[in-house]
Amino acid sequence: MAKRADKRPDHNYRRKLRYLMRVGALPHAVGLHHITVYHDAWCGIYQRKCCNCSPDIRLAWSQPDAARN
Ligand SMILES: [Zn+2]
Repeated sequence: MAKRADKRPDHNYRRKLRYLMRVGALPHAVGLHHITVYHDAWCGIYQRKCCNCSPDIRLAWSQPDAARN
């Protein structure tokens, strides 16, 4: 992943997505995957700031063969 030019902290949901990918909790297969991120009501994302909550991230559905060129 490219290094960010600025020093802003990363969104928590992005950090959590990377973690879930790393531990194999999210699919690596080519295809169409729908992931839902549930932020807490007080999360900074709603004030156009960084996500600073611990969001619930769920795989809603997966269509591994849905990729098209
Ligand atoms: Zn959040």
